[in-house]
Amino acid sequence: MTLQTKLSAFFAILVICLVAAVLAIGLYSFREYSIRTATEHIRSAAEIIRVNLTEAMINGVIDKRENLLQRLVEVPGLKSVRVVRGPQVEQQFGKGLVREQVADALERQVLGDGEAAFELLDDDTDATFRGTIPFVATTRGNPNCLQCHQVVDGSVLGAVTITMSIQHLKRNAMVTLSMMIGAVALFSLVTLLVLRRLTNPIVSTAVEVERAVRRAIDGDFTSRVEVKTGDEIGKIGADMNRLLTYLNEGLNRIGGLVAHLTNHNRSLDGGNLLNTTIEMVETLSQAAHFKQAIEEDETKAEIYLRLAVSMEHVFGIRHYSIYEVLPTRNQMLPMIVDGEPQAACRWCDPQILVRNETCRARRTGHIVDGMTTPGICFAFAPPPDKGDYRHICFPIMQSGAVGSVLQIVVPPDQQEHVAARVPHIGVYLRESAPVLEAKRLMETLRESTLRDPMTGLHNRRFLEESVDTLIGQAQRRKCSIAFMMLDLDYFKMVNDTYGHDAGDAVLKALAKLLKQSVRASDFVIRYGGEEFLILLQETNAATANEVAEKIRAAVAELKVQTSGGMLQKTISIGIASFPEDSDTFWQAVKFADVALYNAKETGRNKVVRFTKALWEENKKDY
Ligand code: GH3
Ligand code: MG
Ligand code: MG
Repeated sequence: MTLQTKLSAFFAILVICLVAAVLAIGLYSFREYSIRTATEHIRSAAEIIRVNLTEAMINGVIDKRENLLQRLVEVPGLKSVRVVRGPQVEQQFGKGLVREQVADALERQVLGDGEAAFELLDDDTDATFRGTIPFVATTRGNPNCLQCHQVVDGSVLGAVTITMSIQHLKRNAMVTLSMMIGAVALFSLVTLLVLRRLTNPIVSTAVEVERAVRRAIDGDFTSRVEVKTGDEIGKIGADMNRLLTYLNEGLNRIGGLVAHLTNHNRSLDGGNLLNTTIEMVETLSQAAHFKQAIEEDETKAEIYLRLAVSMEHVFGIRHYSIYEVLPTRNQMLPMIVDGEPQAACRWCDPQILVRNETCRARRTGHIVDGMTTPGICFAFAPPPDKGDYRHICFPIMQSGAVGSVLQIVVPPDQQEHVAARVPHIGVYLRESAPVLEAKRLMETLRESTLRDPMTGLHNRRFLEESVDTLIGQAQRRKCSIAFMMLDLDYFKMVNDTYGHDAGDAVLKALAKLLKQSVRASDFVIRYGGEEFLILLQETNAATANEVAEKIRAAVAELKVQTSGGMLQKTISIGIASFPEDSDTFWQAVKFADVALYNAKETGRNKVVRFTKALWEENKKDY
């Protein structure tokens, strides 16, 4: 209900109450006034009749009393006058005229108790007031009543019943009341109009303020309130306008800064500017926490995992892939798919894994939006039974190139949801990129300290750092590790005869051959200058012996092209096993070296399996 309606309703009720009160009080007052006036008139007329009847008696013309009463009736207002005889007078003077007999109960009552009685007779046509006044015998006056009447003092001699019309009083009362009600109504109407005029600015300002607030809630702070008066209401309007201007400018400034920080054009949204800004500020804050968390993560894998958790819990995204680009090998590696680490490629043609340029986001370095442009990337291949699944792929730039790719797979029911979150996801990825880059550099750096740059094999430091893990794995699986210590025969001669470069070429060729001769789970380590150590996991000494023999034969067959011509070398190999030969890792390595020493001693180009006897024999040298 509006203020105006409430005011009008209140006023209407007030006027009705006022009219009712005026009517009630007026009617009551007029009734009382009419009765009092009529009572006085009747008493006066009764007194006149009494005096005249007394006079008539003294003058002996009492039999003419009807004439007097007839004349009295001619007095305006008097309708009828009738005298009744009391019983004692009847006794003394007879019954009198028929009209003088007691006519009703009221007269009987007055004759009985000597008290005047009155009654109001009001019907639709006429309003009449009737009074019956007793004539009481008294000794006062000259002559007094007892001189003619044989009664005691105070006896009721008779009574006079007078009726008079008070219709004119009633009519006057109605006219006066109507005028009063008219005046009240007119006064009320004028007051209402004045009040409405006074409240108009309040109401219209309230309506405008309400409209401006509603639009502000919807993110629009441009509406203004019309200031109509200079009073408090006008001030409210002016203050509201100042507040709106302040909020609008502040919001635009914040929005501009946020848009700048998030690379997100807010005007494109067309939605609630305030909500959009709040959401972006929240995202920035969450992204800042996210960045702090990933900066403290140890590996890239942890960062990818945290990114995956954010996809699911912050953005409510169920299907996604995170790929890492391996630039040197032109490959891509699925890091996490739909929350599963190291899962198989699920949403794309697996071709992208071996030829990463087939991934459009990786090749172009741009966001590939398959939501607005379905079919933009040929590599996107959701399972055929999935229906209209779409995708959006974000390249994550590291060191000026695409280092990782986040692919979001969008089911039909999530398209709007994901589209609204694209700018927010962009913020997270921008925060991730430099941290991933730093981690990648650190891992590359660390990897380089664990590898021999010339051959690309792991170095002795790698072995030192991995030893605990290797022992732990072997113990958990209750299996052995075979150690192969390898050393080229008469290698010094190569350097001496063909030069150091030729020696290096031989070492590289040998490294390649060794790597190819063992499983991916085995380790080939450049242990010293031209000494190599091979760790065969889950392998006993007998199997290691077979592998070693194959390697020995392959090396003997290996021809290396150098500037000085084709070179062919042999190799000696010592074998020991952990924990068969020793339950101490490093001692098992040493035992392989002892076996190698024996191979050199006993003719070279051969494989020697470590035995306790060898250790005893060579103990003195170690
Ligand atoms: P043996 O059969 O007893 O092993 O004889 P050998 O000549 O191979 O003797 P040894 O194993 O002691 O030889 C080590 C030589 O390997 C010395 C060094 O010139 C050479 N060497 C070590 N590291 C490198 C390297 O990185 N490049 C080259 N070209 N030669 C290396
Ligand atoms: Mg050697
Ligand atoms: Mg050597």
